Amino acid sequence: MAMRMARRAHNFSAGPAAIPLEVLEKVQAELLDYKGTGMSVMEMSHRDKPYEAVHNEAIANLKTLLQLGDDHAVLFMGGGARTQFALVPMNILPRQGFAEYAITGVWAEGAIKEGKKLGDVRETFSSAASKHNHVPKQGTLVVDPKAAYFHYTSNNTIYGTQYHYVPDSGQVPLVCDMSSDILSTPLDASKFGLIYAGAQKNIGPSGVTVVIVRKDLLARSDKALPEMFNYALMAEHNSLFNTPPSFAIYMCALTTKYLIDKGGLAAMAKVNEAKAKKIYDAIDGSGGFYRGHAVADSRSFMNVTFRLPSEELENRFVKESAAAGLVGLKGHRSVGGLRASIYNAVPVTAVDALVAFMRDFQKAAG
Ligand SMILES: *Cc1c(COP(=O)(O)O)cnc(C)c1O
Repeated sequence: MAMRMARRAHNFSAGPAAIPLEVLEKVQAELLDYKGTGMSVMEMSHRDKPYEAVHNEAIANLKTLLQLGDDHAVLFMGGGARTQFALVPMNILPRQGFAEYAITGVWAEGAIKEGKKLGDVRETFSSAASKHNHVPKQGTLVVDPKAAYFHYTSNNTIYGTQYHYVPDSGQVPLVCDMSSDILSTPLDASKFGLIYAGAQKNIGPSGVTVVIVRKDLLARSDKALPEMFNYALMAEHNSLFNTPPSFAIYMCALTTKYLIDKGGLAAMAKVNEAKAKKIYDAIDGSGGFYRGHAVADSRSFMNVTFRLPSEELENRFVKESAAAGLVGLKGHRSVGGLRASIYNAVPVTAVDALVAFMRDFQKAAG
């Protein structure tokens, strides 16, 4: 069999998304014989020692990166972030209580829609009237101190906006959907009551959802809940109550180890901000040919959304960029235009290729 260098695309997909090449190479090297076991991690029992070590390493790495101590449990669940839209209120919204939500995009709308089916859930903020082009300014969110929790979406994957601060909810537990920016920048996760994130953007492959929950909130999970929906039961069993998505968790362990070795989240943030700046500078310097969707102080460092002068040009941009090896740039159907998702694993070289393509495309079209 001839050795062949993989031709890697410049991958700007919103999710599932790019995974660090070093991680994929490690998976490849360990695929047939994981550490002398004679099998892949995907073939071994989740009750055996080698898997248990992988599982606990993924948890320990996440705790290291997110500055978590023993007050929080890290859970691995199935069903994607969307399942958490329902599980959060099922577990931590008491029957007599109410919760507040900040609505800054498609995913927040999905979260509140599910919440409303399950209890008293209220909207504290909405950017819908301006097509979700911003998040609330720091200090402007007012959370009712009697709320059972306050829910927000730290990065709006589809609209390309991001909170560059952690909202102050006083004593009310902060709950955050961090699917598309977890591990992209330093975070003191100990401030949060609950964080959830589908792994497929910044932590690993699809198939596992990370849930980080403050242990005192586990007391709210009613025993009457179906077992697989119950955070307290999941925590009690270290997410090994049933068969976990073991191979996805293994890849999360490798990715988090890779991030730690690269200098942790401060190092990632530096690179991520520099990558985002290159694209925003290209947009701002285009004399109006490219127009960003998000207002300046809400711009996401993970998903850069922009429009061109016409839909026809946007379609041409998608087609020609794909032909040039730049993949996944078509915007979400609910917003249109273009979107470059530049998560941790998207290298600077891919961003440079995009910026060069943007310049050339404008020259040819404009
Ligand atoms: C992708 C995404 C989701 C949906 O995740 P699934 O794992 O597909 O359910 C939810 N919230 C945010 C912020 C996302 O980026």
